[in-house]
Amino acid sequence: MSPRGWAVLTLAGLVVALVVASAVLIPWHRPPAPRADQLAALRALPVDQVARGRSFHAALRPAAYSALAVGLLVALVLGLTPLGSRLVELAGRPLGGHWAAQAVLGGLAVMLLADLLTLPFAAWRQTVLTRYGLSTQGWGGWAIDLLKSYAVSAVIGGLVLLGFYSVIRLAPRWWWAFGAAGAAGLVVLLSFVLPVLVEPVFNKFTPMEPGPLRSELISMAARDGVPVRDVLVADASRRTRAVNAYVSGLGPTRRVVVYDTLLREATPAEVTSVVAHELGHAKDRDVRVGTLTGALGAAAAVVALYLIGSWPPLLRLAGVDQVAEPRAFPLLIALVTVVGLIATPVQALVSRRVEARADAHALALTGDPATFEAMQRRLAGVNLADPDPPRWEYLYSASHPSTVERMAAARAYAREIGR
Ligand SMILES: [Zn+2]
Repeated sequence: MSPRGWAVLTLAGLVVALVVASAVLIPWHRPPAPRADQLAALRALPVDQVARGRSFHAALRPAAYSALAVGLLVALVLGLTPLGSRLVELAGRPLGGHWAAQAVLGGLAVMLLADLLTLPFAAWRQTVLTRYGLSTQGWGGWAIDLLKSYAVSAVIGGLVLLGFYSVIRLAPRWWWAFGAAGAAGLVVLLSFVLPVLVEPVFNKFTPMEPGPLRSELISMAARDGVPVRDVLVADASRRTRAVNAYVSGLGPTRRVVVYDTLLREATPAEVTSVVAHELGHAKDRDVRVGTLTGALGAAAAVVALYLIGSWPPLLRLAGVDQVAEPRAFPLLIALVTVVGLIATPVQALVSRRVEARADAHALALTGDPATFEAMQRRLAGVNLADPDPPRWEYLYSASHPSTVERMAAARAYAREIGR
């Protein structure tokens, strides 16, 4: 059988594995709380809080969707016309057009161009965040964060590009197989190593001061069967007023991270409720499941890119001879962008189901739906959430159940336990 035949077979195997893993590991059977409860929760929220959340999101929308549209347009223009391959050639020219120069500099040039063309929308978004008082960062701090994230992507992107095109040169017929294994390995590496490596670039973490809250969080984690090594406080207030918490690391490196803004804004009982939700993610191994499905998806994507990218009409549009050359990188980016846009609602749906399960875990662990509901209200207020967002936007991109859904889930739980 030809490499192409094997690729088709491998892709089929990966898709089956992905479907089976998703069917078994993702909590699909979790219908949202009754709409009547949601509407009652919406009426319980202060009218001005709801209005402010809605106007904030209305103000963000033009920048967000323009960025999406421009990003897609840039990817398609670079990938489906010879412009992208010319840009790669141009970027590699100072180093004599060597394949590695084309691969790394050309690849980074394509990504940088897309970043630069969507930069105005990122700045627009920042003006909205500032106007609504959510961002505490001046333009200097914002620009430094932006440069840091460019630097992180350039380092990781450069290494990935060099690795990818080296494999292609070493195994011109079977690169897709090594590429698929490499992409899967990279997803695993990034999901476990990246938080530890990259988080400190953006935030400072300090151990939470000993006290009743810290003791309660650590004992709750132990009671829940997901012991944590430490509770850290992140200095998120440097850039935002938004509140959050998360659990990162695995096993011996597992730690709870709480934004300093959360400690400032919420009562200790509410902080406990937020951390109980995060422990739910740890307990259900949501990061591991996400990593496994992400790794299978990445491997399948590489094989699919090889198969679709070798389609002669696409190669002709991109002005390249074969998909394996660095000059065809913009074509790959165009395909990845389109697939990403299509995959967004699916990922959002999966995420909402997983988040709803973590909410249920928090309710059961704390047995305190009243505080859970108060915490949801506060999160929505501080983070300027739209408590009941437009249906289309919710379906396309909401990563969490809406505030009214989460409040309604607490009410349904309270009825269940008779409180
Ligand atoms: Zn969560």
